[in-house]
Amino acid sequence: MEPGSTPASENFSIRLRGVATTARTALTTISQRLLDIALPNLCAACRAPVASEGVCASCWSKLSFIAPPYCARLGIPFAYDSGPGLLSAEAVADPPAYARARAAVRYDEVARALVHGFKYQDRTDLAPMLGRWMARAGTELLRDADLIVPVPLHWRRGWGRRYNQSGALAAVIGKLSRVAVGGEVLKRIRPTTQQVGLSRTERAKNVQGAFRVPDHRKAEVKGRRIVLVDDVLTSGATVDSCARALLRAGAGDVDVLVFARVVESVKNPI
Ligand SMILES: [Zn+2]
Repeated sequence: MEPGSTPASENFSIRLRGVATTARTALTTISQRLLDIALPNLCAACRAPVASEGVCASCWSKLSFIAPPYCARLGIPFAYDSGPGLLSAEAVADPPAYARARAAVRYDEVARALVHGFKYQDRTDLAPMLGRWMARAGTELLRDADLIVPVPLHWRRGWGRRYNQSGALAAVIGKLSRVAVGGEVLKRIRPTTQQVGLSRTERAKNVQGAFRVPDHRKAEVKGRRIVLVDDVLTSGATVDSCARALLRAGAGDVDVLVFARVVESVKNPI
């Protein structure tokens, strides 16, 4: 046999392998189709069957998307529109470290179900939809942005939950807005207890000094306009602490974009 040629038996086994691969691919496709038929799309909030992905008509009608008029600083909805750039009493009395905050929806029953599924039931498939809504709510912030930074999880919590939901949202928003995402820019340097059930003051104390930009990452932050991304804004203590850490590291300014924010009541502009 000439050097370099393939013996007939080897040729045969290569052909057999090819057939096996083709059969396997076909079987995978068939089983995937069967799975699609067996598992209809369910509403991401209430699990009622829906025609396509997303939320059902009933849940959709209950979602409160936040639109102007709202406080130029905090993004809290106003009862009426009395001109652009107006601030709420909260923004004046207790101004946050960040410049502006925007949210896609109010944190109510449906939003809570979506966040819960996304965060605790591994519904990573919800990230594209939630991220799309956020990118729309944050158009104004993203237009001016140099970098998107997700609120980091402490590694111990990230391990338990397997992935950082803010990181998943930041990735979607980055792709849609073509703004770079700095996933490693901000670090949680100490574990914090869950903010749920804490008072406003306790929340602020819990996350105070919990975040830091590592020295070797400071160059990425210096003078940059940053959009900080998180899933829910309650008291704003976490994003405020993150914004302080970014500003301390030399960030130009920091805006905040969340999926849902708690709105206690609709305010009047001052
Ligand atoms: Zn539903």
